[in-house]
Amino acid sequence: MAFTLPPLPFAYDALAPHMSKETLEYHHDKHHKTYVETANSLIEGTGLENKSLEEVVIASHKDEKLKNLFNNAAQHWNHSQLWLSMKANSGKIPGEVAKRIDADLGGLDKFKKDFVAEGMAQFGSGWVWLVSNGGKLEIVKTADAENPLVLGKTALATSDVWEHAYYIDYRNEREKYLKTFVDNLINWDRVAELLSAAGQRAAA
Ligand code: ZN
Repeated sequence: MAFTLPPLPFAYDALAPHMSKETLEYHHDKHHKTYVETANSLIEGTGLENKSLEEVVIASHKDEKLKNLFNNAAQHWNHSQLWLSMKANSGKIPGEVAKRIDADLGGLDKFKKDFVAEGMAQFGSGWVWLVSNGGKLEIVKTADAENPLVLGKTALATSDVWEHAYYIDYRNEREKYLKTFVDNLINWDRVAELLSAAGQRAAA
């Protein structure tokens, strides 16, 4: 089953002025599309053709022969997470999520500061994530295509710190991009849904 490029869950101009239509056209229609197409060509003959994306990412991780497949399949997964992580006017944080941020991450202001700092500390290309690690919220940074799936953690939201994510809108100012991201773009309703689903799984 070939991988397919998921459509953006919002209009191309929905995140302006924080993220432009031009950025989303390049980022989704060119960069993400290329990862999907390259993963589809690299998977041929590996025996992983009928596995799910998550299974392919986990199976190819740390396998030297499948390194290129891992990089492209993981980038497909990461970008799919990214689009779902964003929303226009991200708005008010649901109460349950706010409580968890207070308990696990020292409050909203500290979360924002630490998320930006982790994104800045990622030297070169990579990602910064809000994850649930066995029920506890954490901020995690990953290099290149690495992601929480291979760390056994549940991704709740992510920001892409590859230069292609911000160069058109912010040029070299990664910090300004990350601050805008935490203030305006995180889809908190989805974080709440994922946390609640993870809690229900843990209780079952
Ligand atoms: Zn990207």
